[in-house]
Amino acid sequence: MRFLRHIVGAYPRQTLITLLALLVAGLVQGVSLSALLPVLNLALDEEGAGSDNLLVESLQGLGITPSLGMLLGLVVAGMSLKSLLVLFANRKVGYTVAQIATDLRLRLLRALLETRWDYYLTQPAGKLTNAMATEAARGSAAYLNAARTAAAAIEALVYVTVALWVSWQAALAALAVAGSISFAFGFLVRKSRKAGNRQTRLLNSLISRMTDTLQSVKAFKSMGLADRANVVLEAETGRLNKALRKEVISTEALNALYEPAIVAFVAGGLYVAVTFFAIPLANLLVLVVLLVRVMASLSKVQRNYQRMVAQESAFWSLYQTIEAAEQAHEQAESGDCPVFEHEIRLDRVDLAYGAKSVLQGLELELPAGTFTTLIGHSGSGKTTVVDLITGLLKPDRGQVLVDGRPLAECSLLQWRAQIGYVPQDTLLLHDSVLHNVTLGDPALGPGDAERALRAAGAWDFVSALPQGLETLVGERGGRLSGGQRQRLCIARALVRRPRLLILDEATSALDPTSEAEICDTLGGLRGQISILAISHQRGLARIADRVFRLENGQLSTTTVD
Ligand code: ADP
Repeated sequence: MRFLRHIVGAYPRQTLITLLALLVAGLVQGVSLSALLPVLNLALDEEGAGSDNLLVESLQGLGITPSLGMLLGLVVAGMSLKSLLVLFANRKVGYTVAQIATDLRLRLLRALLETRWDYYLTQPAGKLTNAMATEAARGSAAYLNAARTAAAAIEALVYVTVALWVSWQAALAALAVAGSISFAFGFLVRKSRKAGNRQTRLLNSLISRMTDTLQSVKAFKSMGLADRANVVLEAETGRLNKALRKEVISTEALNALYEPAIVAFVAGGLYVAVTFFAIPLANLLVLVVLLVRVMASLSKVQRNYQRMVAQESAFWSLYQTIEAAEQAHEQAESGDCPVFEHEIRLDRVDLAYGAKSVLQGLELELPAGTFTTLIGHSGSGKTTVVDLITGLLKPDRGQVLVDGRPLAECSLLQWRAQIGYVPQDTLLLHDSVLHNVTLGDPALGPGDAERALRAAGAWDFVSALPQGLETLVGERGGRLSGGQRQRLCIARALVRRPRLLILDEATSALDPTSEAEICDTLGGLRGQISILAISHQRGLARIADRVFRLENGQLSTTTVD
């Protein structure tokens, strides 16, 4: 019910239009059904044909004497109109389902790209992929089944109304029996809800593990451990299969149990009516048809509701992910930011991850136009310093200043637009060289990419590729060497003409020749741009203007031979 309230509140117009169309369809169907009784009376030539029929009386009131052909025509026209209205309502529902999935996906996407950095550190990538793919699809399908539940309920209401008018005793008996059956089969709905919850949990966990495994698949395969990774994934897939089966069993059991229950009720009712009451044959036939439909549509209400509750958990899981991401929103737009011209300064900065203190009273100045290299053993806090400069992390004490202006008072978006960042992992997209350099920015064209590739020393090998800038680099850039991939990443960082180029262990994974070539390229950029490199190798320290060693949370000036 919470789901229904939520979704109706979020899409009131669409829901109202759908419900109205279904209601009108129901009314039209009711009128054409009420024509069935006089039709049968006329056909069977029974006494008092239509004497107590509202439709016939209304027609007679208009001075029309209903004939068999006219009544049959009314039934056919009414049913056709009803079908048209239902088609309209179903189309509306289908569009709303697609809209819900799209809205959820866009909201998640926006929230994810605007969260603070620390949020990403706690989120498995697979969980977010799963939210985007399966949860959005299952969550929006829950709306489809909610709409089907409503449609079946309206249909049931129409049949019950017509049945009440034909024989209120029989209609009430049908309602009481259908209510008891629904109550008795309620456990199957609860089972479906449980199975749906399990599917949501398992899909989350399975896709998270799968994503992790794929990211390390080379290591797994190289060590012959692919089977072991498989065992875990297969076990979870097996559990997912069990949950899917449980849902199938509950759904099919509900389907299967309803039918004999309906037939038994109608058979019993028919026996009582024929044995104890002298009901005219035409009324009896219409009553049988109506009662079967009353029960069938009530069963449809419960079956669609059952499907909805099985999918509902996916909607809530996705909704929680979106809310958590929105709560972790980064305030990146406050104020403006000066164009970096003089210096970046870390002023007595303290930073701890929980209880672990990493930087204490750190002082660092990066004058514009200089090449600075930060060295230090792994875990000494070099990346933390970079994350403070890019504003991904905020100091616990002290401040980061750009040309004397505290970063806390600057627009982080404007500040980051002045930074080119090259990470250690050369993550290329499965796309062309051009797209990898410009990242699809429409403001950047092939000319900008060529300029950046030349500055990164990559133009020679890119222009020798079969399709030049349009060559596909393969999954994660698998068709290029490590040095070539790193050069593309440097070009990507340079293409927006940054004022500060940051290289975070950018040459650590390279062979000495590639490293030396990249060092030459970076040496060529000296003076044109400010460079901050983090490295534990000598190359980038040798070509720097200034080298700092980070140790025990403090910096010291050092030299490298
Ligand atoms: P470096 O770049 O010099 O290898 P880092 O700046 O990455 O060092 O990390 C400094 C220390 O902080 C390390 O001991 C690391 O384990 C810890 N650390 C880094 N990031 C986190 C985090 N998100 N949560 C907890 N500890 C962290």
